[in-house]
Amino acid sequence: MYYPEELVEEIRSRNDVVDVIGSYVKLQKKGSNYMACCPFHNEKTPSFSVSASKQMYHCFGCGVGGNVFTFLMEYENYSFVEALKTLAERAGVNLPEMEYSDEAKKAADLKSRLLAIYKEAAKYYFYQLKSERGAAALQYLKGRALTDDTIKHFGLGFSNKFPDDLYKYLKNLGYEDEILRQSGLVTMEESKGVYDKFWNRVMFPIMDANHKVIAFGGRVMGQGEPKYLNSPETAIFDKSRNLYGLNFARSSRKDYFLLCEGYMDVIALHQAGITNAVASLGTAFTPQHARLLARYTKEVALTYDSDGAGVKAALRAIPILKEAGIRAKIVRMTPYKDPDEFIKALGPEEYQRRINEAQNSFFFEIEVLEREFDLKDPEQKTRFFNEMAKKLLVFSEELERNNYIEALAEKYMISFDNLRKLVNRYGAQM
Ligand SMILES: [Zn+2]
Repeated sequence: MYYPEELVEEIRSRNDVVDVIGSYVKLQKKGSNYMACCPFHNEKTPSFSVSASKQMYHCFGCGVGGNVFTFLMEYENYSFVEALKTLAERAGVNLPEMEYSDEAKKAADLKSRLLAIYKEAAKYYFYQLKSERGAAALQYLKGRALTDDTIKHFGLGFSNKFPDDLYKYLKNLGYEDEILRQSGLVTMEESKGVYDKFWNRVMFPIMDANHKVIAFGGRVMGQGEPKYLNSPETAIFDKSRNLYGLNFARSSRKDYFLLCEGYMDVIALHQAGITNAVASLGTAFTPQHARLLARYTKEVALTYDSDGAGVKAALRAIPILKEAGIRAKIVRMTPYKDPDEFIKALGPEEYQRRINEAQNSFFFEIEVLEREFDLKDPEQKTRFFNEMAKKLLVFSEELERNNYIEALAEKYMISFDNLRKLVNRYGAQM
């Protein structure tokens, strides 16, 4: 569809480039311009400049530049039309209806209908939580020390004990069986009839980066199975491409994100004022998650449970993050299991201190490796050094590798030269 130039110009002029870019990166006024660390390349000293008078941005480091449209296109991977729409909505400008191809129209139509259904469902669950039927669920959340503000902020809710409660509600709103089936919120089987996907559960709406509800997670009340249940994937929900809490974390203005295991961790952290926490949803951390994070940050502090499963998950996530160009650190929560427990026991300041002291991910990997060996036994100690030497090969740059060799040699009381020889021997075998 063609948009008239005057309209494009109106939308551009009503979206100040400083405001828009300032909502993504931290800008600092320098003379008549604003400066920031460039969101498009990795740097420590700011060379990304935004000019209010020209309504343009430019990076002296990597050379990117443009206006408010190109910024959104680069930063959010939007097409021009998507950028235009976002900025029109932001400025309250109405766009004329698009003329889609039939197929594109159908897909867009399905998505917007599903989003509407999820919005209704979220409202319904939220209402139920505050009603008499939701009393036990509300009590459960209060028991987890969540405040009313937090419950509202995350839109938490409750699905009733009746197996077709939501279905009836949505039917009453005029939705047809076919679209409800596609929403994944109800299941239809010839033998069993129609029943809701979620019932008797505390409901956690899962939102995309733009605060739109695209799925739910539900935690069962009482002893039912499974304890946690997530929405199935639909036209609007791909669990390997969404992170819980991202809609809030993206505007936290921190230069790193916290990655945790579950929604309760995210909620507890946000409630404690640590609003840059996200979690992957009922699935292991994927390369798509990492690429999504890489749009917003270059550093992630992992705050997975300190039990065996959490350590394993962290070890899996580290190379995935690294591959996406993100540095990983590990937050030590001992003697507590997860952020929720930790903050309840020691408070947010102490937790922030642990974040600041987060451990380099390579040292964490070595420490986990060390647990497999009894270093008092010379034979096992030798094997440990050999495994450590192999791992050091991950650093292809000599200076960096030598720095790690030096640090580990000192820690484990082996001479730098001996450890380096060992590393080089394995390197030669590759
Ligand atoms: Zn740059």
